Amino acid sequence: MDRLIRTITKDGSLMAIAAESSDMALISYQVHHTSPVASAALGRLLTGAALMAALIKSPGASVTLKMNGGGPLGNVVAIGDGKGHVRGYVQNPSVTLPLRSDGKLDVGGAVGHTGLLAVIRDRGEGEPYIGQARLVSGEVAEDITSYYATSEQIPTACALGVLVDKETGEPTLAGGFLLQVLPGAGDEAAAKVEENLKKMPPMTTMLAKGMNMEDICGQLFDGMEWEKLDETPLTYACNCSRERVLRAFSTLHPDEIVSLAGEDGFAEAACQYCGRTYRIPKEELEKLAEEKRKKKI
Ligand SMILES: [Zn+2]
Repeated sequence: MDRLIRTITKDGSLMAIAAESSDMALISYQVHHTSPVASAALGRLLTGAALMAALIKSPGASVTLKMNGGGPLGNVVAIGDGKGHVRGYVQNPSVTLPLRSDGKLDVGGAVGHTGLLAVIRDRGEGEPYIGQARLVSGEVAEDITSYYATSEQIPTACALGVLVDKETGEPTLAGGFLLQVLPGAGDEAAAKVEENLKKMPPMTTMLAKGMNMEDICGQLFDGMEWEKLDETPLTYACNCSRERVLRAFSTLHPDEIVSLAGEDGFAEAACQYCGRTYRIPKEELEKLAEEKRKKKI
């Protein structure tokens, strides 16, 4: 089962969050029928959203990550919340690109790197915080690292990996970590962790070796004392509902609401995150339009 752990060094200078997200990546593939490169890009961003949401210590919090690098995948979006629920989509899920010369999927080429990573952090109360940073490679983890460095001035290291069947596009393993240097940390801790990071193999290699999240944090904090703060199960979950669809419809002009019904007498709306479809009968649309007209008077 997918899970996320939060860890900290005993001297309070470094914290790391590590997530195993293989099931989440698999479900997103089943929902969106993603190509190999789209599975990798979306799996990475979903894992990134889970990690970044875990940084906000509030159950009502959510983090939305939106990448548009000008590449053929279009927008790649992922939302994670404080309860370990993650969902996302990619605008053009069937895009395929030739493998890179090193035999790897060309995630950076598919996402592109000429646009922005937008980050919307909502604590569940008050105005959400919106930040953004230029993409550096479109490879996702590097872009998240760069976002923290440029937009929030927090020294961060992020690694994300999704192992994908290059024929079918099915993800078999996924995971990642986010490491941050905490305020007041000495140079020694930062230098030590930098040394450890250099020695670490890529995320997919560690997952393929069967390393769990505790093993990975152990490598990050090699030579330091550390402890696990807590653990959260992760799931691909959507919060869409019929009520939300009706609420979205009610933002339209009354005439537009009625015109949503097709020839069969139903308006159909598909959730872009989970693929669920909602069919609203014309009578209900007329009622909604009528309520809206009344409110205007
Ligand atoms: Zn949904």
